[in-house]
Amino acid sequence: MSTVVTVDVAVVGAGPAGLAAAVAATETGARVAVVDAGNQPGGQFWRHAPETGNPGTADVQPHGHHGWSTYLDLRARFDAARSAGRITYLPGLQVWMAQHSGDAFVLRTTAAVASSGATPATVAADRLVLCPGGYDRQLPIPGWDLPGVMAAGGIQAFIKANGVLPGKRFVIAGTGPFLLPVAAGIAEAGGKVLAVLESSSPSAWLPHLRAAAGVPGKALEGMAYAAVFARHRIPYRTRNIVTEILGTDRAEGVRTARVDAAGRVRPGTARTYADVDVVGFGWGFTPQLELPVSLGVETRLDADGSLVGIVDERQQSSVPGLYLAGEVTGVGGATLAVLEGLAAGAAAARPESDVPVKQPAAIARHRRFAQAMHHAHPVPAAWQDWLSPDTTVCRCEEVTAGEITEARDQLGARDIRSLKSFTRAGMGWCQGRVCGFASACLSAGPGQMPDAGSLASSAKRPLAAPVGIGELAAQDG
Ligand SMILES: Cc1cc2nc3c(=O)[nH]c(=O)nc-3n(C[C@H](O)[C@H](O)[C@H](O)COP(=O)(O)OP(=O)(O)OC[C@H]3O[C@@H](n4cnc5c(N)ncnc54)[C@H](O)[C@@H]3O)c2cc1C
Repeated sequence: MSTVVTVDVAVVGAGPAGLAAAVAATETGARVAVVDAGNQPGGQFWRHAPETGNPGTADVQPHGHHGWSTYLDLRARFDAARSAGRITYLPGLQVWMAQHSGDAFVLRTTAAVASSGATPATVAADRLVLCPGGYDRQLPIPGWDLPGVMAAGGIQAFIKANGVLPGKRFVIAGTGPFLLPVAAGIAEAGGKVLAVLESSSPSAWLPHLRAAAGVPGKALEGMAYAAVFARHRIPYRTRNIVTEILGTDRAEGVRTARVDAAGRVRPGTARTYADVDVVGFGWGFTPQLELPVSLGVETRLDADGSLVGIVDERQQSSVPGLYLAGEVTGVGGATLAVLEGLAAGAAAARPESDVPVKQPAAIARHRRFAQAMHHAHPVPAAWQDWLSPDTTVCRCEEVTAGEITEARDQLGARDIRSLKSFTRAGMGWCQGRVCGFASACLSAGPGQMPDAGSLASSAKRPLAAPVGIGELAAQDG
């Protein structure tokens, strides 16, 4: 039987949202437990080199991290609360199941890396704050399953965690501002970025200038990246996409094309980049919804087509006592995640109080900016046209685009659940985390985005993480 930790407030995730929630909850008087799959706090945004010191931050050199002083401040308060015994920190553990039994939330955990030796614990809490973040959204294209093709966030993780690069010559493609720090980070770390291909156009921001002006820091960040691009002579090509990755045993080059506003390839614009060893794709992020969905949280579609949890102004979900913060309420960046985490932590610590949320105007401004960003950088409507019938979509179960469209057109598989049963797409090791969005689009039809119901059934995973049979058998009920 695993150790049981009983607290007032449990927090899942120690990224920007989770760290902020834990600090706010403990500073509002609650006993807190934080479960995080990472080995040290920071999440995706503040992922950093392994700490050796104690408490560990002073010796870490950030690699292109933004908001590092915010991290150091939250981290100092987090470490102080741990030292005072007010926060129980459980790193290296993944919550594979969350239950709501009676008045308590119960979290079952397993070692995030089987060989890590992290001892699983069960956490029981009166209130729960879920801050599990998200992961890179991927779209399949011919050749994307070759070695050397990576999620843009994966390339960045190499740099942030280890200060090393996974290759020498890069092409970065997709859409959204996230392509900029990835390319800038590669160049600053010594890699050659042959091109950044952005499928959208700067003019897409024109209808959203007011929302953009509400967060002026983002424009300054953009200017800093532009300076890095100029210094390293990185070409930034808008309305351009990768149409095919070339190579036999690994990525060796890419074929690209210009596209119109809908993402339709413009004939006669093909171009080839040779001698490429890493291709990084970023099509936005997918919020990690399995824990909220398993606890019955009401969801909605966000402007970027993602399924997100619905919250009130204090970050409480439709399930009383369950709060959400960060990417799971809508992809909006680290500053918004921190603001939401602070609100959620304080509210979870004092659910009966009517103390108003701090900084509601800042939260609203960042949410408006995020909506503008999603509208300016959509997944191109015509992306399904880039596939050929033999393009693999579900890599775990080796299901092709042709098999999926056949199941849709011949067998009526128009949502992800029926698609799974007819083709096994999304039934492998990753449980649709990589192919789920693309499969749901394909089953909805050409040019279509999936509806909330289809995405919710894709996010419904009885186990939020793989867990050994032995651990399942050892459960105490
Ligand atoms: C790979 C990647 C790179 C990014 N880089 C940038 C960037 O350069 N610039 C930028 O502006 N934005 C970036 N973003 C977006 C930015 O990270 C987010 O806006 C911000 O980190 C959101 O904070 P969060 O706390 O919601 O989530 P995260 O920072 O993702 O933190 C979530 C934490 O929860 C943990 N977790 C998840 N599920 C479980 C579970 N079941 N059990 C236990 N722990 C769990 C994760 O391990 C992680 O530590 C990136 C996102 C990703 C995915």
